[in-house]
Amino acid sequence: NRVVAPDYAPEDAEVENPLRPRTLGEYIGQEKVKENLSVFIEAAKQRKESLDHVLLYGPPGLGKTTLAGIVANELGVNLRITSGPAIEKPGDLAAILTNLNPGDVLFIDEVHRLSRSVEEILYPAMEDFALDIITGKGQMAASYHLPLPKFTLVGATTRAGQLSAPLRDRFGVVLRLELYTAQELARIVTRSARILEIPIEADGALEIASRSRGTPRIANRLLKRVRDFAQVITGGTITRESARIGLDRLEIDSIGLDANDRRMLRALIQFYKGGPVGLETLAAAIGEEAVTIEDIYEPYLMQIGFLNRTPRGRCATAAAYEHLGLEFSGSGDS
Ligand code: ATP
Repeated sequence: NRVVAPDYAPEDAEVENPLRPRTLGEYIGQEKVKENLSVFIEAAKQRKESLDHVLLYGPPGLGKTTLAGIVANELGVNLRITSGPAIEKPGDLAAILTNLNPGDVLFIDEVHRLSRSVEEILYPAMEDFALDIITGKGQMAASYHLPLPKFTLVGATTRAGQLSAPLRDRFGVVLRLELYTAQELARIVTRSARILEIPIEADGALEIASRSRGTPRIANRLLKRVRDFAQVITGGTITRESARIGLDRLEIDSIGLDANDRRMLRALIQFYKGGPVGLETLAAAIGEEAVTIEDIYEPYLMQIGFLNRTPRGRCATAAAYEHLGLEFSGSGDS
């Protein structure tokens, strides 16, 4: 239930669709990714071919689904959205693939969670645009080679390392999404406020952006929450003051940390002298799953230089001690 968790929450549904940029021009930040994609999209359009398969990876909430929609929109084709866990059987994937139109974009979120048997159907589909189906057993077995329309697979994952090598090798374009800067997030907040007709001052947008952990999904969520405080405190307009008061009440500090982050850093510092400590040990100490720490807590704490991953485990840095008002003893590997 964390307000600053970057993964999708039901409360995001209301704003997620209206706020989604529809073109590369509207998509703020991720300059390298946009540059590459625009070249590949233009080339595919000129050759009148489908775009090569694209793998997008990076922490949740950075705009992978949004980019898949933009790719389809820029190519002028349909977007079909599904996810690794939703495709349970090879037949589920076969049904999706045979229903695509030529050139369509198929977006598979959490592509690292496809089962082995589904992946095996996907290889020839990605490579040769065909389904190889075997029916019956023993002497009655027969194999069919069913051609498919050419399509573009856009796969998204938070954990590129968990993708099987044969699947990873079949993506022609591999792009990594980075956490956004506060300035980029301020532009996103300003754009979202305009669409949602929320009056906001530049300082107010920057205050929200600075506490959004580099993640547009969190920025949009905080904007919605701060709107209510602004209504009561400053008559509707989000100013720096109303943003500050609202975010303080939500217990999100000046750099976007909440009670959970502080608890984890304190555990690391006070129980383990700042580390190094293994991921599993740290997870057990604060009652979280190791994957949650890796996907949700760590990307931002590493980005702001509060946490280091070393071969011997996690270490808190001097900056983390300072932020928590604790004296840095210089222990650990940090
Ligand atoms: P997940 O994989 O966790 O579903 P995601 O990476 O697919 O997350 P999106 O759903 O694409 O993230 O984006 C979350 C929200 O952030 C969307 O509402 C979208 O409007 C907004 N957003 C993402 N990237 C940008 C951007 N570059 N510019 C403006 N808005 C953005």
